[in-house]
Amino acid sequence: MIRFNVPPFVGTELDYMKEAVMSHQICGDGSFTQKCTQWMEQRFHAPKVMLTTSGSAALDMAALLCGIQPGDEVILPSFTFPSTANCFVLAGARLVFVDIRPDTMNIDETKIEAAITEKTKVICPVHYAGVACEMDTIMAIARKYHLMVVEDAAQAVMSTYKGRALGTIGDFGCYSFHETKNYSMGEGGAIVINHASYIEKAEILREKGTNRKQFFRGQVAKYNWVDFGDSYLPSDLNAAYLMAQLEKADEINAERLAVWNTYHHAFQKWQGMIELPVIPNGCRHNAHLYYIKCRDLETRQRYMQFMKDHGVLCAFHYVPLHSSPAGRKFGRFFGEDTYTTKHSDRLVRLPLYYGITAEDVKYIIEKTGAFFGNV
Ligand SMILES: *Cc1c(COP(=O)(O)O)cnc(C)c1O
Repeated sequence: MIRFNVPPFVGTELDYMKEAVMSHQICGDGSFTQKCTQWMEQRFHAPKVMLTTSGSAALDMAALLCGIQPGDEVILPSFTFPSTANCFVLAGARLVFVDIRPDTMNIDETKIEAAITEKTKVICPVHYAGVACEMDTIMAIARKYHLMVVEDAAQAVMSTYKGRALGTIGDFGCYSFHETKNYSMGEGGAIVINHASYIEKAEILREKGTNRKQFFRGQVAKYNWVDFGDSYLPSDLNAAYLMAQLEKADEINAERLAVWNTYHHAFQKWQGMIELPVIPNGCRHNAHLYYIKCRDLETRQRYMQFMKDHGVLCAFHYVPLHSSPAGRKFGRFFGEDTYTTKHSDRLVRLPLYYGITAEDVKYIIEKTGAFFGNV
């Protein structure tokens, strides 16, 4: 059986975790946490990165740092994971879903402006599959209407838009290091803070509402409860695991891209039968996932069953949030749903992970050809 995903493992994870254990520092913000955040700050030219317990927790922090008030509105795509929406709902916002573009499955930047009301506070673009949203347009709209931008870059670690790392373009960027992502610490994530003025507030929010960070830096004589907060810091054990993978980030990225390109090249000849992902000019992606779009839902189900019968596990993706019970309760779809539902029904993801063998990729391509060659 070819699995859909195998969590990344580079081999040095246990050595680093042992080092963390032996140094008697396994709580949050130890030396491995510091190494991970420094690595990301340097690599992505990010003003400040903080590790969190998950991508969802990074989004929770971002929503709170945006200062959402009950009744504020947030514009986001419906084709996304519930965490993109939950963080804003928990902060009291109403959701306004905007349609996606069919080429990238990302929010359609040309439909955002019409969805803005006097209650709109935040735009939350999601970089689906690690491919950038049209950020120049989105940032220009945000500036024009004085809105904040939270990038859900959970899938986009190591991707760029016009040379800039995803996650560093909006006010806040959120990464995930869940085991299904390109780089992992089991469960974990990070928030990128792109304006220095939010750093202190973020430190307090992340450390249970206390000014412990300032205390450790010797800026205050004792630490105190100064604002609302929660605990968003992961154990240094998890950071040690992640550091092993960040050190191999280029190798992991190159290998994933090679697999992505092999699929993409091979599937060209079935264009017409299936639709392939599009990478817009100026975007460099991280091969987070490879998907094809079948003619319709029925064909997708038959293709997935065919692959499963031949020992290959494929996966569909999101049920659009606006058609789910919580989505209906907490938000509304603005304008026409031209692509969101239809294209999510047609989309299927193929196995793609660090370490997948060339033989397995070849087999998946052959079987896909056998299916589409006969319909
Ligand atoms: C994975 C993911 C999340 C959530 O990340 P966790 O680390 O699992 O909490 C949020 N948004 C998107 C688009 C994701 O793919």
